[in-house]
Amino acid sequence: MFPEDLKPPVWVLRMGHRPGRDKRVTTHVALLARSFGARGVLVDRRDERLHQTVEEVVKRFGGNFALRSGVSPKREVENFPGAVVHLTMYGEPLRWHVKELKGEERLLVVVGAEKVPGWVYQKADYNISISQQPHSEISSLAVFLHELYGGVEEELSFPGAREVILPAKKGKKVISLEAPPLSELKKEEGWIPDEKEALRILVDVGTPPAVISHCLAAMEFSKDLLARVSKNVKIDERLLLVGSLLHDVGRSRSHGIDHGVIGGELLRGLGVDERLAKVAERHIGAGLDEEDASRLGLPPKRYVPETLEEKIITHIDNMLADSERVPLSTFLERMRKRGLEKVARRALDIQMELETLLDIKFDELIG
Ligand code: SAM
Repeated sequence: MFPEDLKPPVWVLRMGHRPGRDKRVTTHVALLARSFGARGVLVDRRDERLHQTVEEVVKRFGGNFALRSGVSPKREVENFPGAVVHLTMYGEPLRWHVKELKGEERLLVVVGAEKVPGWVYQKADYNISISQQPHSEISSLAVFLHELYGGVEEELSFPGAREVILPAKKGKKVISLEAPPLSELKKEEGWIPDEKEALRILVDVGTPPAVISHCLAAMEFSKDLLARVSKNVKIDERLLLVGSLLHDVGRSRSHGIDHGVIGGELLRGLGVDERLAKVAERHIGAGLDEEDASRLGLPPKRYVPETLEEKIITHIDNMLADSERVPLSTFLERMRKRGLEKVARRALDIQMELETLLDIKFDELIG
């Protein structure tokens, strides 16, 4: 999901910026606005250094974000084609208005630095407080955007990024994107991206960082498996590795059961090889037959993994809880608790078939 998908779009007007004194705070207002899904920031005083800092962040971490400095606040407020929200401790609690605000066409959110002139309180359509105590424009803006967009900031993706930060228990997990932006990649019919291009696809179609982390864990799992399997077994290694990376690409649009079908369509739309589209489409549960599919409201079709690569990816996915490897029993228990005995049985069948064919034990790959 991209900031451009969020409704209503938000622009932030930062008033009272003093280039010498407020450099850090105004920069943080802009960075916070960007990372929580706002479309851009307007600042009342011209500040070249602010432009430089924000441009560097956008270049490195991606997305589109507008910054205009040296604007006239009065003109911006008067001409804004939407509702104006002023964040102030003197206003009314956000809770009273959040529903109405979600329904507005677009919002201009005004935050101050020092004392905000009286006309802003009068011209604003809403004066909104985030607690009735004094704190800061950065914190009030964070809470406002978090509530307005329902906490979606963790799901946001910024296309064209050179670096993506992934969730990590300890230390730092950062991936460098070496492939050019998706718009510049060759997308011919039957295209099998390499690993770098597959990562670029994930980022540029809007896959949340936590899902990218899971996809990388699936690829690592596949690599470990390949290292144990005899070279006599015919596996298309590239298809397996890139398929592991792309199997959840549909979660850029939905975390529901439909993410497999969506992923398949998305890959086909990019001209990606049909075999990879099928990996995405058939990895749900342990595959879905026509009856399961129609019960779940999916287009009536058989989504059961057939090729060796499809089966391995489906199985690996069932042995991953987010990015951690877990025994298949964890997945089986979860399915049985939900009354999905058929899925559990199919997953066990796939495990038996793969362990025999590949002469491995999946539990030994858990580590
Ligand atoms: N004392 C100043 C005034 O009277 O407007 C506010 C200064 S405060 C450091 C800077 C900005 O933080 C304010 O203009 C407002 O946008 C925001 N702010 C601070 N506390 C707030 C609160 N409780 N609710 C909403 N916004 C707040």
